[in-house]
Amino acid sequence: MAQYLDLVFDIPAKTTFSYRRDEKGEAAVGKRAMAPFGKREVLGYIVGEGDSPPPGLDEAGIKAIRRVVDAEPLFDQRDISLAQWIAAYYLCSLGQALSAMIPSGRRPGSYPSLPDDENEITAAALELSDEQQAALDAIIAPAIGTEENHKGTQRNTKEDSNSSAGSSLPPMFYLYGITGSGKTEVFLRAAEHMMKAGKSVIYLVPEISLTHQTAEAIGKRFGTAAATLHSGMSGANRLTEWMRIRSGEVRIVVGPRSAVFAPVQNLGLIIIDEEHDGSYKSGNTPRYHARQAAMHRCSAEGALLLMGSATPSAEAWKLMTPGASAPIQSFLSESDPKGRMGDGMIKRLDLSRRLSGGKPPEIQPVSLEHTEGCLTPELKEEIRKTAQMGRQTILFLNRRGFAYFYHCPSCGFELTCRHCSVSLTYHKSKGRAICHYCGYSEAPPKACPQCGSLEAGFTGFGTEMIEEEVRRTFPELRVRRADADSTSKKGSLEETLALFRTGAVDILLGTQMVAKGLNFPGVRLVGVILADTGLHLPDFRAAERTFSLLVQVAGRAGRYFPDGKVIVQTLRPKDPVITRSCALDVAGFFGAELNQRRMLRFPPYSRLIRFTIRARDPLKADKAIGRLANLAEGLIPAGGDALGPAECPIGIIAGNHRRQLILRGASMGALHGAARTLLERYEKGKDSAVYLEVDVDPVSLL
Ligand code: ADP
Ligand code: ZN
Ligand code: ZN
Repeated sequence: MAQYLDLVFDIPAKTTFSYRRDEKGEAAVGKRAMAPFGKREVLGYIVGEGDSPPPGLDEAGIKAIRRVVDAEPLFDQRDISLAQWIAAYYLCSLGQALSAMIPSGRRPGSYPSLPDDENEITAAALELSDEQQAALDAIIAPAIGTEENHKGTQRNTKEDSNSSAGSSLPPMFYLYGITGSGKTEVFLRAAEHMMKAGKSVIYLVPEISLTHQTAEAIGKRFGTAAATLHSGMSGANRLTEWMRIRSGEVRIVVGPRSAVFAPVQNLGLIIIDEEHDGSYKSGNTPRYHARQAAMHRCSAEGALLLMGSATPSAEAWKLMTPGASAPIQSFLSESDPKGRMGDGMIKRLDLSRRLSGGKPPEIQPVSLEHTEGCLTPELKEEIRKTAQMGRQTILFLNRRGFAYFYHCPSCGFELTCRHCSVSLTYHKSKGRAICHYCGYSEAPPKACPQCGSLEAGFTGFGTEMIEEEVRRTFPELRVRRADADSTSKKGSLEETLALFRTGAVDILLGTQMVAKGLNFPGVRLVGVILADTGLHLPDFRAAERTFSLLVQVAGRAGRYFPDGKVIVQTLRPKDPVITRSCALDVAGFFGAELNQRRMLRFPPYSRLIRFTIRARDPLKADKAIGRLANLAEGLIPAGGDALGPAECPIGIIAGNHRRQLILRGASMGALHGAARTLLERYEKGKDSAVYLEVDVDPVSLL
């Protein structure tokens, strides 16, 4: 039995730590152990073992671990390789990567997942449309077909080749079709096919709430309960599911982004539903993107990747559209010397028709400019008409609270958070002005705090105000609001959605929560209260986000009836982002958007690594970012550059002053090298009162 163990911890240090094994001999690679670390006892991951102490270490100085946590190993060499890839790509430590992958629970819980035989098959497979059948055939052809099919996609990815087996791209497919065009059915068929072939499937969804919906559909269809993994479950229950998956007992797993790490045996397929969704990118270290991790896993484990959306991300659109990036050779040739990440690398499969009787809705932009209140006469008229038909309405506004902007016309005063550089939102139901970034709140001022003027006040409407106006205008209609405030109680969102689904609610009003993936047969009308809310944020993805949100929201209308209607209220009825989303013109939008990105050299025509500095003291923040920028100067790869140093668009959050430096380059390989050296040099002599965060392929620059 090996006498020495290599442990890693959930800390930034990028080394392994040596320990002597326990006397009982329970320790093994893949288990967690409590080990003395400094003055404390800390949970570590056992990632290796050996017979002799590491060279250069004094045998007597090596401490023993205190206690082994797990009876059975939680992870194996394959998981360690995946964690090593995460650590190398996202510039974190192996311990940080493992701790993002593996459930934190210490003991398995008694998770009440249904035994297989209690599930009944209650949903028959639908007869596929021609388009669906063609898509399915294309997807499963490589899996059942010859070796040739796999060879056909062997192109080396430098990005993906750090420390691991996979050096070829996996076969990748994209189901591109409007909401209601039957993507889910194709996903289920592809999954079924893989499972029949003895392989496992990971099915990623963008929301915890969609996890249940999808797991249920799978249960009804296959008679087999899917395993689920998500952060809403207790650590103990996640651990139970993790072990069930690892043992091979369950072969299909549903969950949001972290489910991409599910330890399935014999992976055959990863499905990414609503591929464009921002929730696939982690907001904490390691800031991994589930799509990137899925690509890596599929390539390392010989599996297929199947994505789908009505509004692909710009990255995916470029890769599935031949010719999308022809010009500016100098830049591209450097980024892509062998054409391996070439356009057309993802095979696009189109679903163009709505099944079950629906048609794409008629979408009408309406100017909000001369309207008193927040409902235009056009929208009111359609709400009335829809109610008379006995059908339902969804109203969407991406801003909660009552009013969000306090301004004094006499002196120009604006009410912002004491700890953040953002305005306070007035919440009428709570009687407070609240900061949405840090939670700080105060009583709303009765007069301008600066000059005493009584003309000062809140403007700009939020969902709370819309609710009030809708109730006032349509007292006979049943209204429910779904946003972070109205659904903070556990189960209340589910209740609201269930009421709406049964028809007990006429108007569902809310934020993003009502826009994503939900399927309500009775909806005729969708009203977008203000389409422009996110359009002019200082972020190169602002247009893409606005466009895809509008198209997704519009997709809720008329899924089962041919007369769906969408009213898009806007202050900029002529803005091309608005007009193209109203025309559901995805190709037109991306044509213009990708052109813009190419000229400005933003992703997907370049790669970014963002460094964000946080400090209580603004001078320390300035000094640290200045030092980082100086160190970066000699390191920037040819053809690349640095953006900044600069204050972040949101300069202060929760009392922390924020500064950023963005390294931009043609390829991730060269950028990674520069970033690693930069981080090493920065570490030496850094100020401990300053925090540095690294984001590889950032999706938000705010
Ligand atoms: P998407 O995932 O593309 O938004 P769904 O898979 O939810 O679309 O399908 C929309 C509706 O069409 C669902 O009610 C589904 O049952 C139905 N549907 C899907 N495929 C077929 C088919 N082949 N024949 C009839 N109805 C179908
Ligand atoms: Zn004033
Ligand atoms: Zn704040």
